[in-house]
Order: sequence, then structure tokens, then C-alpha cells
Amino acid sequence: MQQPDPEQLKQFEDSLSGPLLTPESADYDEVRQLWNAMADKRPAYIVRCQDRADVLASLNFANHYQMEIAVRGAGHNIAGNASCDGGIMIDLSLMTDVEVDAGARRVYVQPGVTLGGLDAATAKHGLVVPTGINSTTGIAGLTLGGGFGWLTRRFGMTVDSLVGAEVVTVEGGIVYASADEEPDLFWALRGGGGNFGIVTRFDFEAYPLADQVLAGLLVFPLEQAESILKQYREQVIDSPLECNAWVVMRHAPPLPFLEESVHGTKVVILALCCTGDIEEGKAWAAKLEAFGSPVGTHVGPMPFDQWQQAFDPLLAPGARNYWKTHNFTELSDEMITVAVDFAEQLPGPECEVFFGLIAGKANTVATDATAWPCRDAKVVMNVHARWQEPTHDGSCIDWARALFRASEPYASGGAYVNFMTDDEGGRVEDAYRENYARLKAVKRRFDPHNRLHLNQNIQPD
Ligand SMILES: Cc1cc2nc3c(=O)[nH]c(=O)nc-3n(C[C@H](O)[C@H](O)[C@H](O)COP(=O)(O)OP(=O)(O)OC[C@H]3O[C@@H](n4cnc5c(N)ncnc54)[C@H](O)[C@@H]3O)c2cc1C
Repeated sequence: MQQPDPEQLKQFEDSLSGPLLTPESADYDEVRQLWNAMADKRPAYIVRCQDRADVLASLNFANHYQMEIAVRGAGHNIAGNASCDGGIMIDLSLMTDVEVDAGARRVYVQPGVTLGGLDAATAKHGLVVPTGINSTTGIAGLTLGGGFGWLTRRFGMTVDSLVGAEVVTVEGGIVYASADEEPDLFWALRGGGGNFGIVTRFDFEAYPLADQVLAGLLVFPLEQAESILKQYREQVIDSPLECNAWVVMRHAPPLPFLEESVHGTKVVILALCCTGDIEEGKAWAAKLEAFGSPVGTHVGPMPFDQWQQAFDPLLAPGARNYWKTHNFTELSDEMITVAVDFAEQLPGPECEVFFGLIAGKANTVATDATAWPCRDAKVVMNVHARWQEPTHDGSCIDWARALFRASEPYASGGAYVNFMTDDEGGRVEDAYRENYARLKAVKRRFDPHNRLHLNQNIQPD
């Protein structure tokens, strides 16, 4: 990387609407933090972009000096690619406008918006965009990787609701990608990650959603996990699309509805969300409760955006995290045994194994319709190792890798790039399956020199 001299740096700074930070800036250390404390990087420059012009200027500046480029939405990605050592972080987190056209059911979203910001804006109009389950996650990274959550069964992946995107290209152009304009780029953006340019606006279709959903937790002792997972497989995976339940195996957090004696014990949790008729949701929840003998339940009607924040305290930034993921078209007896065995050996109080249910509308879309290719996946597993002290790195990472390896024979192939760590670059081709060749072709056109390579990288050559 060439270094700009002070005069050139001043010129660049003066051209920006947002602040330019360097390691000497007072807020540098705060702003450079990412969600995953394992990624502790120190960019030479951070541009806190206010608008599209700042993004364009930053990209041109980075190209001129051949700097490493990291692009940051809300900084949640497990791989920590939203920052870099010594290059420039193009930080979009101050670009947080959301515009809702309720009549047209269209939502125009800037790339620094979090899922909570989006939910708050759409809820005012009785609308929703299907995204993920944690309100502080960024819409940008989530959408570019695929995006799934409580509403995926009913409305599909987040990318299935994307209708267009404004993109600043690596070469300094601005293009709009949609089904009609730049359709290859539009296809690639729907799952291909941050490989093709910097998105400065996401345009979504939104869907009507009732004021209240039925949501909450059913908590059972881990001893019942095998039986609960088998009933889950038989009775939940094919249930009405308005109903969703995810399985989490972990140590019980100190939740107020759990007896103190349960706190810290190993449990299996069914986290559920029903977005249809509340009474039908209650009947469905009662059926799930009867899967075993719960040690605590907390289910009731609430606004959807409130439920979206339920897991925020357990997923706060600043901890050390390491993830491993597989997709499944079915949960075999063998797979259930493997998952429960590893849950019995959880290496720490914050580690968990979860199964997120996506079976439904996402499976009705053709594999080659979007870059996200895993249209046969019904369940996504995430092995989520999470801990505080660097001294636990070894035991937590080893546990996650061992469970990943043991479950590989039962997985259905492909992988969710948004759950992949920074040591999984070799898995990218497999993750994209038959869509990889087309992704490479789009990459060759929009980023032939792989300037945007801090991502789950699709190499142009
Ligand atoms: C606590 C937590 C909960 C999660 N829950 C879910 C969930 O329920 N469902 C789900 O699908 N995923 C979930 N995820 C994964 C999430 O989708 C990814 O971490 C995603 O990358 C986060 O987006 P971000 O903008 O916050 O990330 P960042 O780390 O800011 O960005 C990730 C990458 O995306 C690219 N990028 C970001 N913005 C742009 C842009 N505007 N243009 C081009 N490239 C860009 C860059 O390559 C960057 O490295 C969760 C993650 C966390 C940490």
C-alpha cells in the first residue's frame, strides 16, 4: 500500500461528509470494534460514510493507494471481514435511513440499518421484511449472504424479498441492479456476499403482518433432547408455514421465568414464533409443550419487533465466538444422537447448538434463481461456540470443529456463508454448489482484480 501524504489526506478528508478516523482519533478504538472479539483489527483509516458520495470517494481513495478494503455494515459477521489491518474500513453504519412506501409495499433501506431499525420502521405500517432473529444484526451483510429468521418459512429468504439494489462498483460507477437492469449482478447479490461492489441501498418487498404474534420459549431438561428432536422432526418441520420453532441446546440462562435451580443446567429449548391466528398458535404451542416435561415455559402474544429483540442479551457484542454450520434436508436418528452427544459436552456456559427451521417458501424457489443455492435445505445447524477468555479458545474451537466433523455425513451440502468463519475460505466453492461458476463470471465482470476480497471470497480467475 502506498501512503498518502498529509496534504493528500487532508484533501480526501475535506471531500467527505462523514468523519475520517485514524488510530490517533479519540473514537477510533470504539468504532473499529466488531461483534466478534476474535477479530481485533486495526485499519489505517476508517471512513464513517454519511452517503453514497462518501462511499464512492472512499473506494476511489483506496484504489488510488492500492489499499486493502474492508466494508462494514453492522459489523456482525463471524469472520470479522468488516475490518482489516492497515487498510481502509468503509464503515456504512451511520447510513441508517429507511423509507417505507406502504401503498406499494416497498421499503428502501440504507446499508447501515440494523434488523431492529428495519422492523421498527415497517411495523408502523403493519408491514415486515423477513430477516434474521437478532435486532442488532446488519441488514447489509445478512441480505448479501441470504438471510433467514422466524418468517422464512412463510415469506422465504431475505434475498427472495430483495427487488433491487443500488451499487457503487469497484471501478467507481453507480449501477442499479434488479430483475430488469443488470440482472446478473442482481442475481449475484442475492447470496453472493460482498464480492461485487458496495451496496448503498437495498429495495425490498414487504408483507402485511398482524400487530401481535404468538412467541416464546419452552424449556426442557437436556435428558429429553433426543425424544424432543425426534418429535420436532415428525411434527414441526412440516407444520403450517405461519408456525416456526428453532431448537437450542445450551446451559439455561438466568431467565426470570425459570426457577433458580434450573439456571446453568443443560437444557433443550424450543423457541417458537407463530405469525398467524393467535388461538391456532396457542394450540400449536401446546402440542410442542407436550413433547416432554418442561422445566419452564414463557409463551404469549407480543409485537413481532419485541420478539426480534428477545435474544439480544445473549448475543451481545464483545465475546469471543467461533461457528460451524451445516444444512440438512432431514434430521436422521444418527444426526440427532450426534448433536445431543455434543450438547452433553458443551465446553462453556455460553456455547450452544441450534437448529433453525427454514422449510417452506424458500424450498419452492429454483436453485439457480438466486446465488444462495441451498433450496433443498430444511434445517440449518449452527454450532455456536461463545466464550469470554482467550484461554478457552482451544477447548471451544475444538468442540465446534469436532461436532461439525461428526455431523458432516448427515448434512445435505452447501453452506450458509454468513455462518462461516475466516478459516473456511476453501469451503466457498462447495457452499455455492452449482451456482459457483456463474458467480465467478459475475465477479470477473465487476471486480476482475479481486479488490473486494475480504469476504467469503469468490475468486475471479
Ligand atoms: C448475533 C447474531 C445473530 C445472527 N442471526 C442471524 C439470523 O437469524 N439469520 C441470518 O441469516 N443470519 C444471522 N446472523 C449472521 C449474519 O447474517 C451475518 O453475520 C451478516 O454478515 C451480518 O451482517 P452485518 O452487516 O452486521 O455484517 P458486517 O460484518 O458489517 O458485514 C459482513 C460482510 O458483508 C459485506 N458487506 C457488508 N455491507 C456491505 C455492503 N453494503 N455492500 C457490500 N458488501 C457489504 C462485507 O464483505 C462484510 O465483511 C447473525 C449474526 C450474529 C452475530
